[in-house]
Amino acid sequence: MTQLTLADWQTRAAAVQFEGRAFINGAYTAPASGRSFPTRNPATRQILCQVAECAAADVDAAVSAAREAFNRGVWADQAPMARKRVLLRFAELIRAHRDELALLESLDTGKPISDARAVDVAGAAYCVQWFAEAIDKVGGEVAPLASNLLGTVTREPVGVVAAVVPWNFPLLMASWKFAPALAAGNSVILKPSEKSPLTAIRIAGLAHEAGVPAGVFQVLPGDGEVGKLLSLHLDVDCLAFTGSTGVGKRIMGYAAESNLKRVWLELGGKSPNIVLEDCPDVAAAARAAAGGIFFNQGEMCSAGSRVLVHRSIYAEFVAAFTDAARAYTPGDPLDPATRMGAIVDDVQYERVLGYIQLGRSEGRCLLGGNGVMTERGYFITPTIFEASPHSRIAREEIFGPVCTLIVFDSEDEAIDIANDSEYGLAAALWTRDVSRAHRLSRRLRAGTVWINCYDEGGDMNLPFGGYKQSGNGRDKSLHALEKYTELKTTLLKLG
Ligand code: NAD
Repeated sequence: MTQLTLADWQTRAAAVQFEGRAFINGAYTAPASGRSFPTRNPATRQILCQVAECAAADVDAAVSAAREAFNRGVWADQAPMARKRVLLRFAELIRAHRDELALLESLDTGKPISDARAVDVAGAAYCVQWFAEAIDKVGGEVAPLASNLLGTVTREPVGVVAAVVPWNFPLLMASWKFAPALAAGNSVILKPSEKSPLTAIRIAGLAHEAGVPAGVFQVLPGDGEVGKLLSLHLDVDCLAFTGSTGVGKRIMGYAAESNLKRVWLELGGKSPNIVLEDCPDVAAAARAAAGGIFFNQGEMCSAGSRVLVHRSIYAEFVAAFTDAARAYTPGDPLDPATRMGAIVDDVQYERVLGYIQLGRSEGRCLLGGNGVMTERGYFITPTIFEASPHSRIAREEIFGPVCTLIVFDSEDEAIDIANDSEYGLAAALWTRDVSRAHRLSRRLRAGTVWINCYDEGGDMNLPFGGYKQSGNGRDKSLHALEKYTELKTTLLKLG
């Protein structure tokens, strides 16, 4: 296929027919209140379309359709092989609509179109396919009991699953929830972020076209209130959340106040990327570190936002790192050559600028900081500070293209700094010494440790999630499938 050019994408963008309605019980539906909110293109600040502002009546309608579909067994009781066929078709439809979905994602979030195609849409299709392929491969257990007993241990779908997701990888993060939840036989209600609802709305139609029955996959756009209503709902059995640690805490509270629904949280991070003095290739480490913090405008839970560098190679690393960071100069998200797009909205833009201002008082700015382009949209240039590990810019999640460099003198000091965080999502180590890599990896309190790479791990076999306040449970892998099931023990006394 020939590569589309900027002009091609612009032509397509001008012709998009946006769908902004909710998807409830097998059909696109206007919200009961008739209310809507605008979603904007952060690269131009123009309104793309109006989107349904769902509220309690819509949440109740979706939950009751989900419950009905579940109780009737239209999906849950289908043979795993039959569910697999439908989900494989769904994955193929996502692939067939790759350009359309990538364009919606890029317009809605400001991310580069090339990344939206290669990472977000391709990753979502792969995720749906992977869980589809898994569901007729995993079975239960027969317990080793006395000869007059037969005990089986099986997994059953948990029931009605609500997925509340963020705006940084809207379709991809959603697929990490809905793919395993649907594969396990649940009815799923997806609540996208109010900042990026368009791909979630579009794929509801594709799921329906693939053969997912009415009520089994529904989408409710709206703000945090919709997430709260789902979290408090007495007929929702499981709430799968990706987003900030603050909202994650509230969601646990809502579950406690209501029906003790299962709550799975994938939250924030402030991940350390540790470059030891025996780093095998300083230039490669610097390039990976730049990708680790500047990819997706730094709007990444796993961003390597703290780069810890041994003093003996610090000068060499800083030169290579600032050089590599320049490749992420922001540009038009629809230009296939662009590697850094726009910040998602004015709120996030102001938040990141606030941290840049703070960084000027807390540390030394080595790159960016000044170079904010404001005339068209919300763009921020890659920014690098050198600061103390105790500074706020070294401790708080900024969720933008801002990196804090920290110099260290010993391995123990690096590990202490790395672990001195409320978060524990990911970490990375650069060393030639395999034993040292394993020894230090064990000491790092993080859900994922990358060695001599950063953010590798697109393979669905690898679980992803956090220690400490970065969350509980894991997305991806067969471990994710377990989150959307209950464990059933059946004991038969033989006559
Ligand atoms: P957010 O917490 O503000 O919002 C996430 C979702 O929660 C949105 O859909 C929002 O509408 C909803 N929400 C807001 N208030 C709510 C409430 N009171 N009750 C229920 N739902 C509510 O997060 P965000 O700004 O969209 O995303 C950025 C955050 O997500 C960052 O902290 C980032 O690290 C985290 N994140 C984590 C992962 C991971 O896998 N660990 C992946 C991506 C993003």
